[in-house]
Amino acid sequence: MNSAFIRFAKNHRNVEMLFNYMNDGLMLTNHRHEIIAVNSAFQRITGYTLKDVEGMNPSVLKSGKTPKHVYHEMWDSISRSGTWTGELLNERKDGTLFWSFITITKVEQPRPEDSYCIGIMRDISERKWQEEQMKYNASHDTLTKLPNRVLFKEKLEEALRTASENGEKVAVLFLDLDRFKKINDSYGHQAGDELLMKMSQRIQSVIGEKGLVSRFGGDEFTIFLPAVNEAATEHVISALFAAFEKPIIVHEKELYISMSIGACFFPEHGEDVETLLKNADSAMYRTKEEGRNHYQRYEQGMNETFAEELSLETELLKAIRQQELEVYYQLQVDIEKRIPFGIEALIRWNHPLKDVLSPAIFLPLAEEMGVMADIDEWVLNEACQQTRRWHREGFGELIVSVNVSREFFKRPDFVSRVEQALARAELDPAYLCLEITEKTAILQDEDIRAKLNQLKQKGVGVSLDDFGTGYSSLSQLRMFPIDTLKIDQSFIRGQVSPENQAIVKLIIGMANSLNVSVICEGIETEEQLSLIRNEGCYKAQGYLFSRPIPADECKGVMERLIQSFT
Ligand code: C2E
Ligand code: MG
Ligand code: MG
Repeated sequence: MNSAFIRFAKNHRNVEMLFNYMNDGLMLTNHRHEIIAVNSAFQRITGYTLKDVEGMNPSVLKSGKTPKHVYHEMWDSISRSGTWTGELLNERKDGTLFWSFITITKVEQPRPEDSYCIGIMRDISERKWQEEQMKYNASHDTLTKLPNRVLFKEKLEEALRTASENGEKVAVLFLDLDRFKKINDSYGHQAGDELLMKMSQRIQSVIGEKGLVSRFGGDEFTIFLPAVNEAATEHVISALFAAFEKPIIVHEKELYISMSIGACFFPEHGEDVETLLKNADSAMYRTKEEGRNHYQRYEQGMNETFAEELSLETELLKAIRQQELEVYYQLQVDIEKRIPFGIEALIRWNHPLKDVLSPAIFLPLAEEMGVMADIDEWVLNEACQQTRRWHREGFGELIVSVNVSREFFKRPDFVSRVEQALARAELDPAYLCLEITEKTAILQDEDIRAKLNQLKQKGVGVSLDDFGTGYSSLSQLRMFPIDTLKIDQSFIRGQVSPENQAIVKLIIGMANSLNVSVICEGIETEEQLSLIRNEGCYKAQGYLFSRPIPADECKGVMERLIQSFT
């Protein structure tokens, strides 16, 4: 302790005790606010010895980063009540910053020149940085480091206030990646994360200082642009699309990313944060419906379709409970033997108001709602039982094909569920064929391949649906020994072009050489039938033989087909 301090402490014995045992930094100033004493804790915290600061104003510790009003409050409080406690962001001798929790007390003496101030400070930097980190984490997305929805809403709220004072517009954009779920499912979550990170960097590089980008959740990003007009906003949106023309490299693969954007404006389309976000979301939703990779500006009434969608969602849940779902069947015909050899189970929804709904309308919804696997399993059980009935009625060789989604495959007990369905129906596994669609890259998944192998060993068949529409058709064939290829109907539709004819020829030739059987889907006319027969395909499915029909109509159609061929 230095001499000034000792001199002072001698006159104030109880204060001396306190000073000696304190871990807190201590500083005394005289009536002219000059530092006259500091203790060793002060030296430890600030890096300054008494020699460094003696005679100086305590403002030597100022970092310039504490807001001015804090000092006003401080002097105000000291002059009113003789003391002040608060937090200051100060600077050490070496220039580093530290947070101090300070109590300053003015001790008045009869002679004003004997009055002094005691400052007691504690270094609370660690706690403050932690608090700041926590605040940052609570308001930022951990993956992309972008502001999260909480912070976004806060900042948008501020921006709306400023805009309304200045009579300006604010654009709110809702941006959603197209088919992100597919990417996640096909390449794994790690790849999905990497993609989101790289995407957010690209978005951020376009928006820069023009506005604020946030990761709103999942694959959704929101952006607001203060003080803009519609032309400037469109300019920014074009720049966003341009930024995604080049592929994003994820796990050494080039992914071409498309996204859908919805835009709305303050104050025209809403005056508060929630309304603006809802309307931008509706506009984005409309973009998705109209083909994706585009943008839409909000228009009155867009919410209504959204509400309709929501009600379809609740209706679907009701439909599952109230058994409005039904399995239709479509025949598969052996062209040479001229008899139906198989039948494909295709789900339908007997909607009480909307008639019979096609799976193309409600399966994507079921997928989003997470009920896809349940629906598939139900279809599987129905189809096995119905097929067993047909076997008993004399169609003893009929093979039933059931479409299986990735969601159902991913159930850990998928294999035993299929076995149970077969056992319940008392159907020989050889009469069940599982259809997998190549679009969802199911065969890329090792776990699913293992499950398929187990079932295949039991005699269950596997066919690859919609063949030729995915981009990795041929590589899929190397991954798993499938039994049947189903050539997608798009190749045979309408007037068959020479290119499509060549593709069909190639697929059939390749399948024959690999000993894989081929079915052509979508055969509607005799011309199409002879075209595929000439190329060496002997199995067909299509409206020419039968449309998908309810189970109880199938028997009649099968009998008529057999009779007409004989
Ligand atoms: P998919 O498995 O490729 O089924 C063939 C689709 O082509 C069926 O459409 C069928 O009605 C239609 N089709 C058959 N022949 C012709 C024809 O000659 N001309 C034309 N224009 N179309 C024909 P649908 O029933 O609407 O099913 C669509 C898709 O929904 C199916 O395609 C399948 O991928 C999926 N799906 C249907 N039921 C289920 C199910 O229970 N589970 C799963 N996971 N998916 C299903
Ligand atoms: Mg199918
Ligand atoms: Mg198909």
